[in-house]
Amino acid sequence: MSNKFVVGADVGGTAVKWIAGTDPATPEFSGEIPTCPNNIEATFQSLVDVVRSETDRTVDLFGLACAGVFDPVTSILCGSPNLPGWQGKNIQQFAESAFPGAAVTVTNDVNAALVGEWMFGAGRGYDNLAMIALGTGVGGALIVNGQLISGSYNGAGEFGHMVIERNGLECACGSKGCLEAYTGARGIVQRSNSDLTVADLFKKADAGDKEAIDLFRETGEYLAIGVGNLINIINPDLVIIGGGVARAGDLILKPCIQDVSKYILASIKPEDVVVPAKLGVNAAAIGVAVMARGNS
Ligand SMILES: [Zn+2]
Repeated sequence: MSNKFVVGADVGGTAVKWIAGTDPATPEFSGEIPTCPNNIEATFQSLVDVVRSETDRTVDLFGLACAGVFDPVTSILCGSPNLPGWQGKNIQQFAESAFPGAAVTVTNDVNAALVGEWMFGAGRGYDNLAMIALGTGVGGALIVNGQLISGSYNGAGEFGHMVIERNGLECACGSKGCLEAYTGARGIVQRSNSDLTVADLFKKADAGDKEAIDLFRETGEYLAIGVGNLINIINPDLVIIGGGVARAGDLILKPCIQDVSKYILASIKPEDVVVPAKLGVNAAAIGVAVMARGNS
């Protein structure tokens, strides 16, 4: 293993999770800073400051994962509603200025999380993987025959926007009935008809509140439609369920696994295929650091 020093950072709508070290599997440093969704310069400066407060080592490689679609030809980030000030910007250039001299790799956050899970987490040892990341929105990523699938304009894996209900709930993307509109945090809160956050709703369900438990069961049942579609189309070894909402665990996963069989042709055991992510909040930062090493 090379001893190049790598920084991996995962920029979400509210926080940047970062790791640094020579081996992404066991980073020497890690942390979290707030994202300035409207100020790209300030966010990069905070990241540089926090890394520099920990170490003065030369950064050889910098991997950056962002929510949204990153166009590798123009280096522009688009389709990222949670990072309004970042949209349309040349992210690669900002990343190169942050750590001068470092070789930069930029990718989508869920692609990075799936690479992390593939190397060190739930997907270790498999070559056909799909990931669904349940956060505020719902992202996805795909590895087929050992290759991360990017599609013709790097937009592959947007599983959150597969339509599972005709004329269904409105989605942030402008369409109706998307998987995201039912299984993303925003959609879950909307279906709860309350002012509570998803975290509040977890607590209620954990405390045995029937309405909250039913809400997550229904979320799992909607998720099963999306997972079933993926299994029929891709025939993956695993569908890895990650993201903050997936912390609801069995409240969502059990009903999902129970329902998946209704939608799939293959005679598989859904409980062997639909699995939770393992790496936790640093999955994308670790994954993009791995990608940066692979590109060096
Ligand atoms: Zn949508």
